[in-house]
Amino acid sequence: GEWSLSDKNVYDWSSEEEEPDGRARPVQVLLVKDDHTFELDEAALSRILLAEEVRDREVVAISVAGAFRKGKSFLMDFMLRYMYNHASETWLGDADAPLTGFSWRGGSERETTGIQIWSEVFLVDKPDGRKVAVLLMDTQGTFDSQSTLRDSATVFALSTMISSMQVYNISQNVQEDDLQHLQLFTEYGRLAMEETFLKPFQSMIFLVRDWSFPYEFPYGQEGGMKFLEKRLKISENQHEELQNVRKHIHSCFTNISCFLMPHPGLKVATNPLFDGRITEIDGDFLNNLKVLVPWLLSPRNIDVKEINGSKITCRGLVEYFKAYIKIYQG
Ligand code: GDP
Ligand code: MG
Repeated sequence: GEWSLSDKNVYDWSSEEEEPDGRARPVQVLLVKDDHTFELDEAALSRILLAEEVRDREVVAISVAGAFRKGKSFLMDFMLRYMYNHASETWLGDADAPLTGFSWRGGSERETTGIQIWSEVFLVDKPDGRKVAVLLMDTQGTFDSQSTLRDSATVFALSTMISSMQVYNISQNVQEDDLQHLQLFTEYGRLAMEETFLKPFQSMIFLVRDWSFPYEFPYGQEGGMKFLEKRLKISENQHEELQNVRKHIHSCFTNISCFLMPHPGLKVATNPLFDGRITEIDGDFLNNLKVLVPWLLSPRNIDVKEINGSKITCRGLVEYFKAYIKIYQG
């Protein structure tokens, strides 16, 4: 149907996509179906990325990826708050306001492996005067069987290739199988590289949730880097496979970093009536959230998506998305 951008840069959806309040929302653009085929919603992708205001802007594509039920939406809703509050000092906002955004549709929906993007692309002024378009993506999969593992790895590879920053959301620790999943993704990515001669990977951030050893490695980015260094270290007594994963990860990304997040507290983790209000979240978590979100999203920290050294616009990103999908469909 017809669509338009209002002054507030919020989409008006019509026909079946219309929301009662006309607000922005997550849109499933890539879906893995039960028969393991991929479905790209090109129309939705185009509506969002080819909107007049954004299509010729260089794009910052930020993906948060990981398994279900590990707090991705919860984090992304705070990322949205930061974006909607224009990175102001008080971006966390009203302490009693419920969280809305990616989690807005609620838990009743079937968990689907695929990529959702936020329907509103944010225009941000970088300190150097450039206006860039910021796209937020939620990439999720399951890793519980051979077939879902393969589907998830493909989806993760795709989102890693089209994002300028991949936030790999993992629970409690960086386990060996987290690294193995990552190796699977990067192997899929290499496949794409061979076909297109492009080096696809930019920044990878390991985001460890519920980190419980702050006395060993403190919360935050510095502790995270020290921890990751240790975790990715290659040693002689490791199995060859483990050594390879580590070499591989190092060789695939321009930047690798890590952030250790504390547990948000029992209300967040266990109370079914919890609506995301700040007053019920542990102080330690909030303090680190105040560091994490600007670290990921502040206008000076965000990087434009580059492929083979060229900066990509929203329009270009749509083309790459379609091209990469074809490789996996082939
Ligand atoms: P997603 O499926 O990865 O998007 O996970 P959600 O954001 O929907 O969160 C799943 C559940 O975990 C919700 O009940 C959240 O309140 C809770 N949750 C959110 N963040 C965290 C966290 O950092 N640690 C723990 N233990 N639970 C969290
Ligand atoms: Mg979610």
